[in-house]
Amino acid sequence: MSRSSPFTALAAGLGLVGSLAVSLYGRSAAQEIAFSGKNIAQLEELTRKDSNEATLRYYLGLAYWSKSKFDQADSALRLAVQLNPRYAEAYLALAYLPYMRRPSLFTEEIKDRVPDKWMPKVEEANRFYQRAFMINPLVSLQILSLAFPLDERGFRDYTSAESQMYELFVEGFVDLSKGRYATAYERLEKAMKVASAIVCTHEHQDHVGGIASAPDAAAIAKQVRLTREQLQSPKLERGEFRPGALAELAPLDYQGVYAVAPGVVVQKAPGHSPGSQLVYVELADGKRFLFVGDIAWSKDNIRLQRGRPGLATLLMKEDRPAVAAQLKALGQLPPDVHVVVAHDPVALEQDLAAGLYRQGFSGM
Ligand SMILES: [Zn+2]
Repeated sequence: MSRSSPFTALAAGLGLVGSLAVSLYGRSAAQEIAFSGKNIAQLEELTRKDSNEATLRYYLGLAYWSKSKFDQADSALRLAVQLNPRYAEAYLALAYLPYMRRPSLFTEEIKDRVPDKWMPKVEEANRFYQRAFMINPLVSLQILSLAFPLDERGFRDYTSAESQMYELFVEGFVDLSKGRYATAYERLEKAMKVASAIVCTHEHQDHVGGIASAPDAAAIAKQVRLTREQLQSPKLERGEFRPGALAELAPLDYQGVYAVAPGVVVQKAPGHSPGSQLVYVELADGKRFLFVGDIAWSKDNIRLQRGRPGLATLLMKEDRPAVAAQLKALGQLPPDVHVVVAHDPVALEQDLAAGLYRQGFSGM
């Protein structure tokens, strides 16, 4: 199961999304196209004729949303999941909706200062979010473009260093949020080629998939710093790598803690998998990040000190006491260390909205 650091994990995630975008679009494409261009009045008229159509309710919800009619959006989306209890996209929209109604909720959640009366909404949003991904791990992320209308690049001088840095590290997020999966994947691939090092929190396929499926394995082999434990792990899906690609990778050997680059340190943390490690990043401006891989499922695992359900742990063959001890240690970190849990897109998007990563990139 996966999360990753923005650099490596994202590459893996995007690889997955890119290759499966076709099947997503194939599902109910005709219906979606039929509804997606319509305005509120047209959609309301259609729902009067066909009140049991979940897709119609979903698009009506999005139409209300885009006009900031959040109460109506909420009702329409809830009706959509009542009509179709396996409507992953509608659950995902419901998960993001409270953050639209209360824009400060992102930062309040990051700072652990959610007002009491909003806590049930945040908890419900988390349940909707988990349900969306449980129903369909490849649920369309296009709702993100409504929730987070990221700016398109506004540079005048496209040859400037800032513009090129933006293109390399930020524009992929914009593409992703707009559903331009192939372009997002290409951008990540380009970033991997020029990276000085590519490290992974652990060896599960959803974290190393971007490396495994890189079209030009030779162009990234030098930068890939998979640890010996990761390369030797029974959890590494060797069959997913292009033929000969694994043999090209030199294992990274270290004990305890190792500095990969200035301000970037890895630390062994076996438990979720034999090759799990923490990736600590300290930027020149003093901002501190800890990429924890899959030690935690969501930020709530750390906040509430609650791990995965026993069955999931069993199926994953985790070292449960080790993971529990790690969760405890993560819960005691100083508040200025931003813990990045990459399977928690709500938290990830909050960090992005709060400017945490954008500032980091611009400082590079
Ligand atoms: Zn994992």
